[in-house]
Amino acid sequence: MISHANYPFQLPALPYAYDALEPYIDRKTMYFHHDKHMQTYVDQLNKALAPYPEYHSWTLEQLLSRLPELPEELRTQVQNNGGGVYNHDLYFDLMAPAGQPFPGELAEAFGGEDNWKRQMKSAALGVFGSGFAWLVRDASGALKILALPDQDTPLALGMQPLLPLDVWEHAYYLKHQNLRGDYIDSWFQVINWAEVIMRTK
Ligand code: MN
Repeated sequence: MISHANYPFQLPALPYAYDALEPYIDRKTMYFHHDKHMQTYVDQLNKALAPYPEYHSWTLEQLLSRLPELPEELRTQVQNNGGGVYNHDLYFDLMAPAGQPFPGELAEAFGGEDNWKRQMKSAALGVFGSGFAWLVRDASGALKILALPDQDTPLALGMQPLLPLDVWEHAYYLKHQNLRGDYIDSWFQVINWAEVIMRTK
């Protein structure tokens, strides 16, 4: 996991082929999203950190959990580009070829699969502009769904990130154009539930 890596950060390989999530997420979107958009976040984060050797030993998770400790001129760069690296690493890792069953413990926590989907979709559709919907575990240990703008992370709020849904237009525009809801329905088909459940342990 890139969350435990430190400067200089490197783009992790996509854990499956670009077309592995077809027809739900298309090859072209995956290529630009991973190789171009995520690469840019990696490059910008490294560029921002280069003049600050005192933070080169900090892991990405430390940087994002301790934003208030960073110098002001570095903080926004880490929040946006470090968040971009962290969020995309999780987003790509937590998708897989379609067909994994919805986990029982989530069904229990949210009153069934349909209720979970309804809440996640509502949070994702409610993001004005760019951002993510998140399944998280909060400080009390409860499973929650929330929406965060831009590349903000639940780490900065003291919550454990479990599953991100990227609703920046670059995540769906090539295939779905303006239809964010259609993309969300497609994304529901390709969640890597086995990995999500590992993260909740
Ligand atoms: Mn993205």
